[in-house]
Amino acid sequence: MLNIVLFGPPGAGKGTQSEKLIEKYQLNHISTGDLFRKHLSEGTELGKKAQKFMDDGFLVPDEVVIGMVEDKIKSETDAKGFIFDGFPRTVKQAEALDNVLKATDTPISGMIALEVPFEELKKRLLERGKISGRVDDQSEEKINNRIQVYLDETLPVSEYYKQQSKFNGINGVGSIDSIFEKISAVIENF
Ligand code: ADP
Repeated sequence: MLNIVLFGPPGAGKGTQSEKLIEKYQLNHISTGDLFRKHLSEGTELGKKAQKFMDDGFLVPDEVVIGMVEDKIKSETDAKGFIFDGFPRTVKQAEALDNVLKATDTPISGMIALEVPFEELKKRLLERGKISGRVDDQSEEKINNRIQVYLDETLPVSEYYKQQSKFNGINGVGSIDSIFEKISAVIENF
């Protein structure tokens, strides 16, 4: 089983690369951002809980995220493996994920971290905001906030995987296909 953590700041290209990875390796995709947006559009209780955090670019509380991911993993029993996209975003989430996977006896194979300079990220997110309609992509203030949250709360997750010798950094600037080739080369060695 191949379990990949696709990591990186907002706008690094995780969603784009996930789509290509799913197709190539036949993996199930768990994007917590997509799951929350689905809950939001369906008006569920969970969506209501998450909305104010998401709109302002703060993290949804760990217990809400962890419960949602755990349910999703347990419901997809026929998966060949998972791509975790936008999760784990805190060390607490990373520890919880390890615990859930321990029960299924299929640990994380490795982390792939997309590295993109902050000025480039801001440019990409503002561009995406013009077409995506996402509230959190609409203002420079919200984008700056998300980058700050990433630095404070999410970046330590890469240390967590470094300690397990599972960290792989990839330059996330370049063509989509050239980045995908670099990611694939790393995965072949998992
Ligand atoms: P991006 O990577 O472009 O910022 P995502 O779609 O991954 O966007 O996430 C959008 C928002 O959803 C985040 O800003 C946050 O509020 C919430 N969210 C997504 N994943 C998590 C998570 N693992 N933990 C906490 N909040 C999350």
